[in-house]
Amino acid sequence: MGHRVAIIKVADHSNSEAVADGIRRSVQLLGGINKIVEKGDRVILKPNLETPREARTAATTSMIFIETAVQMTRELGAVPIVAEGPFMNYNAEAVFQVTGVRTLCDRLGVQFVNLNAAETVEVEVPGGKAHKKLRLPRVVLEGDKLINLPKLKTHHLTTITCAMKNLKGVLPGQDKQLSHVRGIHQAVVDINKTVRSDLVIVDGLLAMEGMGPTFGGVVDLGVVAAGTNVIAVDSICAEIMGIDPFHIPHLKLAYQDFSFDPGEIEVVGTSVKEVQRSFKIPRERISYHIALRSAHILDRYIYRNLSGGKTIFPRLSGLFGAHPRIDADLCTRCNLCDKSCPVGAIDLTRKRIDATKCVDCLICLELCPNKAVSVKGISAE
Ligand code: SF4
Ligand code: SF4
Repeated sequence: MGHRVAIIKVADHSNSEAVADGIRRSVQLLGGINKIVEKGDRVILKPNLETPREARTAATTSMIFIETAVQMTRELGAVPIVAEGPFMNYNAEAVFQVTGVRTLCDRLGVQFVNLNAAETVEVEVPGGKAHKKLRLPRVVLEGDKLINLPKLKTHHLTTITCAMKNLKGVLPGQDKQLSHVRGIHQAVVDINKTVRSDLVIVDGLLAMEGMGPTFGGVVDLGVVAAGTNVIAVDSICAEIMGIDPFHIPHLKLAYQDFSFDPGEIEVVGTSVKEVQRSFKIPRERISYHIALRSAHILDRYIYRNLSGGKTIFPRLSGLFGAHPRIDADLCTRCNLCDKSCPVGAIDLTRKRIDATKCVDCLICLELCPNKAVSVKGISAE
């Protein structure tokens, strides 16, 4: 039997009722949520809330996807639990506030778990190559079902990030970085051998192109895609972005490791052609590319030989990473950014941003009327 992927085009995605209807129709095309979730199930809902940026920037999953998934599971008598662990360079609480997930979960009265702070259990990875073992949050392992709610984006290391890559977020804190140390493409595949998605619903309403996964451009795509197989969903989403799935390393590895035949994917609903666009793929400046690769190599050496199994990548990347800075010649000290910075990281006397305080929300970048704020190391294209 083929792997079914449903595509729904939502014409007016500023209308939350239309989006919720599109989400429900996409799952209906797979046979209905009742084929996947049963009464009494504890259902983990895993959005992509990796960074402190709102869904309108295309960096994070829209709250309507979480809300609709909560409602669908509750209608069956199941118990939803929203769970996320942002990338460790970011302040997790800032992410939960800026994305709106804390407010949403409070309003819905649904349990929310910060996976970076959750109790973990070490498990074997069946057929693991990059990861032989993983530390995983107990709450995820003890869930009966997992609904994966990724955002559709380009990624400067993995070309795209969708359902498979979204599960790296379940690794606690610095363990996420181990995936980079051990080889990100195989690591993504290994994580998906251990944490299985029972249902994927992709937020492709506002997708990201160019310098993803955080600072790319917004593509008004208006797409919801759903499926029960992460590899099938990611393959079709790559095609929607105009990218050959065989050019995506983690998908190629997944085809081998899972003996997956992309020819067996069946698309229902709207066709790929009707929604397909040609996404700009990420381009790092050569200096940034060299710095990033060098940091990974140095970190791998330190991890293996000197640090007793601890990664220092977050500190290394802080030296050159994607933090905003102020161009003193362009800045007129209008004070707009300083008033809005949530953590008081901007010193307008010196026209400097304190990288140790900054949570990379990029509110300053968006607000500056003089284009005086830019992000170091990456191109806006
Ligand atoms: S300096 Fe800019 S990016 Fe950093 S926290 Fe403040 S507003 Fe956000
Ligand atoms: S918003 Fe721009 S011009 Fe105004 S103070 Fe900040 S950096 Fe300077």
